[in-house]
Amino acid sequence: MHWLFGDQLGPHFLRPSKDSGLTREAPLLMIEARSVLRRRRFHRAKAHLVLSAMRHRAAELGDRVVYLRADTYREGLAHAAGGGPVTVHHPTSHAAVRLVRSLPQVAMGPARGFLAPMADFAAWADGRGDRRLRQEDFYRWMRQRHDLLMDGDAPAGGRWNYDHDNRLPPPRNVPTLPVPAPYRPREDEIDDEVRRDLDQWEKDGDVSFVGLDGPRLFPATRTEARTALKRFVEHRLPTFGPYEDAMLTADPVMSHSLLSASLNLGLLDPAECVEAAEAAWRSGAAPLNSVEGFVRQIAGWREYVWQLYWYFGEDYRDANVLRHTAELPGWWSDLDADDVRARCLHTVLAQVRDTGWTHHIPRLMVLGSYALQRGWDPAAVMDWFHRCFVDGYDWVMAPNVVGMSQYADGGRTTTKPYTSGGAYIDRMSDLCGPCPYRPGDRTGEHACPYTAGYWAFLDRHRALLEHNHRTRQAVRGLDRLADLDGVRRQERARGDGPP
Ligand code: FAD
Repeated sequence: MHWLFGDQLGPHFLRPSKDSGLTREAPLLMIEARSVLRRRRFHRAKAHLVLSAMRHRAAELGDRVVYLRADTYREGLAHAAGGGPVTVHHPTSHAAVRLVRSLPQVAMGPARGFLAPMADFAAWADGRGDRRLRQEDFYRWMRQRHDLLMDGDAPAGGRWNYDHDNRLPPPRNVPTLPVPAPYRPREDEIDDEVRRDLDQWEKDGDVSFVGLDGPRLFPATRTEARTALKRFVEHRLPTFGPYEDAMLTADPVMSHSLLSASLNLGLLDPAECVEAAEAAWRSGAAPLNSVEGFVRQIAGWREYVWQLYWYFGEDYRDANVLRHTAELPGWWSDLDADDVRARCLHTVLAQVRDTGWTHHIPRLMVLGSYALQRGWDPAAVMDWFHRCFVDGYDWVMAPNVVGMSQYADGGRTTTKPYTSGGAYIDRMSDLCGPCPYRPGDRTGEHACPYTAGYWAFLDRHRALLEHNHRTRQAVRGLDRLADLDGVRRQERARGDGPP
């Protein structure tokens, strides 16, 4: 019997191979474990998506699969397989690997759904000696190794990096990017059944959720995911690059692909995504800056984050170099966007509440930056992202949240903390316009919480940040602030209420 976890749903998880022990005829097992939902207060749209995708996959596999609803994985496995031998692909979290290793009857094969084997990454990383691990170096190594956007030994177009042509602010005076809308799936009777089950479990007091479970926005089947990829590549990839980092109030998606949930459920293989993007460039359908930007996200960032999760080991999640210990306030945990007056945070928190998704820059520079400035416990911030995002899984959380967003690893993943004053948000979005706060104000009734929070953060961590060449200049700026005491007082008075 071969066991498929709920994020191993695509055809690449069924390809027979010697190293996994998986044969073409092996009967399959899927376990819907209620304890997983009980452990954390997930976004309801996320619970809906995962259950819908698992049940759709089971319906496709028909008689070949035993689909069990059990309290725990252990219980489901005992019921389905007794003590008989079971194979499984390497799961995606340390906890699940621990569980699999504790079950003597289960043989674990290598991971699927990523481009590079873990051992190859470890050899690459170890081979760098004392040099810092850098995503850019890893990405170039991946491009060469997988012959992605390469012309012989040289990067296509002569450059590895088109960031200079990307990262533009949004076009002025347009509420939305003029691109065709992203693919949206249509719900079916499996979604109805999932919704009924979730209602019942909530009514029974068995589980509790946050966020809205509106019409399902993300693919639950391979067919839907392939359609979403095709539509993105044909209609939206050409404008992906330039506005990758921009934010528009009325257009949360802009030209982003919305493919993370499908990739992380295993419905799409990263290889087919980067290959489709490269083919669009080679046929002249999409410009190189956009295609390179997209390939960088998948073959660079996604793969890097996955590899670091395993390379850094399980203790990495507890890193807390800045010694941040504050609890997350209730309005944040409950996604109470309507209590928030700061327009950027209100808008982004409402996107999370309503859809369980927002793109990379709101995650990093609006949500993550706010948490970092307030000194919230990075492990709690990580747990919040994990629960509230449709694409949140343990492996993707630790490096993105503990490392990149909260700088809790002291710079193992990034060279400096990602946080800024309101001026950055103002430059990269139309979010500030009618906000009651002003990005240029540090103190006073219109002081922008991001601007004041930024200076207060630098002030609190001056001793550490003045030794970092990327933040030294900013720290020196503290000495030129005439109203630093006012900023300190104001930030203390803010407390943890919604800004
Ligand atoms: P696009 O902008 O269209 O990018 C294409 C693809 O690249 C994504 O679908 C994703 O698979 C991949 N990708 C890009 N950056 C990353 C990255 N840093 N880590 C992993 N994959 C990446 N991504 C998740 O998949 N799950 C998460 O829970 C998650 N949490 C995040 C939390 C924080 C604080 C930050 C800063 C980033 C997080 N990311 C996460 C990365 C990124 O924000 C999302 O992958 C992206 O916004 C998903 O939307 P998209 O599919 O439209 O992405």
